[in-house]
Amino acid sequence: HAKMGGKARHVIFTPAMHAQAMEKLQMESDLRGALGAGELRLHYQPIMSLEHGTVIGFEALIRWQHPQRGLLYPGAFLDIAEETGLIVPISWWVLRTSCLEASNWQREFPGDPPLSVNVNLSARLFAEPSIVDQIADVLAESGIPPSSLKLELIEHSLMTLSNQTSDVLRRIREMGVQLCIDDFGTGYSSLSYLHSFPVSTLKIDRSFINRMGPLGEQGEIVQTIIGLARTLNLDVVAEGIETEQQYQQLRDLQCGLGQGLLFAPGLDSEGVRALLSNAREADRSRP
Ligand code: C2E
Ligand code: MG
Ligand code: MG
Ligand code: MG
Repeated sequence: HAKMGGKARHVIFTPAMHAQAMEKLQMESDLRGALGAGELRLHYQPIMSLEHGTVIGFEALIRWQHPQRGLLYPGAFLDIAEETGLIVPISWWVLRTSCLEASNWQREFPGDPPLSVNVNLSARLFAEPSIVDQIADVLAESGIPPSSLKLELIEHSLMTLSNQTSDVLRRIREMGVQLCIDDFGTGYSSLSYLHSFPVSTLKIDRSFINRMGPLGEQGEIVQTIIGLARTLNLDVVAEGIETEQQYQQLRDLQCGLGQGLLFAPGLDSEGVRALLSNAREADRSRP
């Protein structure tokens, strides 16, 4: 009896939904092969000393050179990576590749302190018991000092940490690796909470920098986070600096570090090398 179900039953799964589900399955299967096929890439965005205008290190940002879809940004595939667990092998690859890259920068462009590398890790990685050994191995293999490696965790993820995970964080910190809270201001950290985690850096979410505006709206929030970092003796990085005006405001607020399109987007290895060479030339030709 074709009429029995009535129309309503037939719209539960629309052709559009079907197409979407198929596309997701396809992406999942593509992503499974991406690591082995060498389709993942890292771009590196410079992190600047706002006072000196010099590069102190880079944040590694993952991209996927998809054979059909072109260059994909993390927003297009990280959720799938998380859901499928592929985030774990991908993250080990990111960690290893960026530390090896950093050892090249340090050799070619020595400095004191040496150039550092920031790596984004999802909270899930800190539940992998092997993470401490993985990090130790990568540090040994690359030869970079532990303090040159900075691991970024997004603020939301810190709230759900188990005791076991905070123990892992402590062990990582004891190795000398630095821990940063990414997208700070978008989660719900409390002060006591900040104290109980062995954190070295706060990264102010770019939404706050973005809304600072000419009249200084949101400036108070940024100022408060900078003050908090100073009180707790933490480094502070402003994310997403796009205008000279924001740069000036942040310098006035004595924000130590920053990154954003005003300075540079994420660069490939060659781009990084060109940037560092130019900076070195500029430094040499200074009177
Ligand atoms: P995030 O860690 O907060 O990284 C900063 C994001 O802001 C990057 O986006 C960067 O390209 C972008 N950005 C930098 N400066 C500016 C600016 O001045 N204006 C604007 N509008 N945007 C700017 P991207 O590369 O798309 O990465 C998005 C997020 O994906 C990252 O946010 C991070 O949470 C995550 N992610 C990136 N790489 C990895 C990775 O290797 N592993 C994991 N687990 N997550 C990653
Ligand atoms: Mg980050
Ligand atoms: Mg961020
Ligand atoms: Mg972000």
